[in-house]
Amino acid sequence: MPDVMIVTGGSRGIGAATAILGAKAGYAVVVNYASNREAADKVVAAIAADGGSAIAVRGDVGVEADILAIFEAADRFGTLTALVNNAGVVDAALPLAEMSAARLDRMFRINVTGSLLCAREAVRRMATSRGGKGGGIVNLSSVAAKLGGPGQYVDYAASKGAIDTFTVGLAKEVIDEGIRVGAVRPGIIDTDIHASGGQPNRVAELGPGLPMRRAGTAEEVAKAILWLLSEEASYSTGAIIDVSGARSILP
Ligand code: NAP
Repeated sequence: MPDVMIVTGGSRGIGAATAILGAKAGYAVVVNYASNREAADKVVAAIAADGGSAIAVRGDVGVEADILAIFEAADRFGTLTALVNNAGVVDAALPLAEMSAARLDRMFRINVTGSLLCAREAVRRMATSRGGKGGGIVNLSSVAAKLGGPGQYVDYAASKGAIDTFTVGLAKEVIDEGIRVGAVRPGIIDTDIHASGGQPNRVAELGPGLPMRRAGTAEEVAKAILWLLSEEASYSTGAIIDVSGARSILP
């Protein structure tokens, strides 16, 4: 049975880059997506063309039954040893005073509850005390967790703050189970997420003013994720790596 990596939201952006690097590292990859089957199929085809193994699995991480189905698909594919909790959403830039309860529910259901439930399913399979062979979990945080997102998306920033806390807590909780847990905090990365939050020009507008004079790439984030999962990171658990070109240390 091959070692399986699940990448939630593996069909585009950072998730797609992670799925491709994960396959290169030898994982059979579950490329999860929410609705864009075509994008997921492209990632699976790129992995197959490179000699790797991958399947596309639809599922909304904001829905528990979908999460269970994603993990059941992974069980049929091989032995789960890596989870990348990557799926995440932003919303339109607004001050808190204008945010609806429905928006907050969706943000926290997908970004926080979805990540915790996926990690729960992963721990149930990986924990050595439950007969698993151990593994790694990497969560996608954001430098927004430190900056706070004032005037734009304090809800998103708070959801990522929760991811940071969860990463540290779960790392300690499963430390004797052969499972390491880490996170990456990307800065501004050139993906579609900005357009989905109504700011399609965010990378072009903000890139030149960033400390490195540019936004980051999905591949630059994926490399940090793969490092955390690898044996090279054997003494790193509970670690949260900034991949932000120093954006996070701006005042
Ligand atoms: P993206 O380009 O918008 O891609 C999002 C991916 O997640 C797509 O594959 C999408 O699937 C999937 N997805 C969305 N909602 C989902 C759901 N409810 N269930 C399952 N899959 C879902 O995003 P990205 O920029 O690569 O961001 C990935 C992660 O990095 C997120 O957690 C984000 O918060 C974090 N991050 C990104 C940045 C940045 O600047 N890009 C910075 C900091 C942190 P479909 O194609 O089917 O819609």
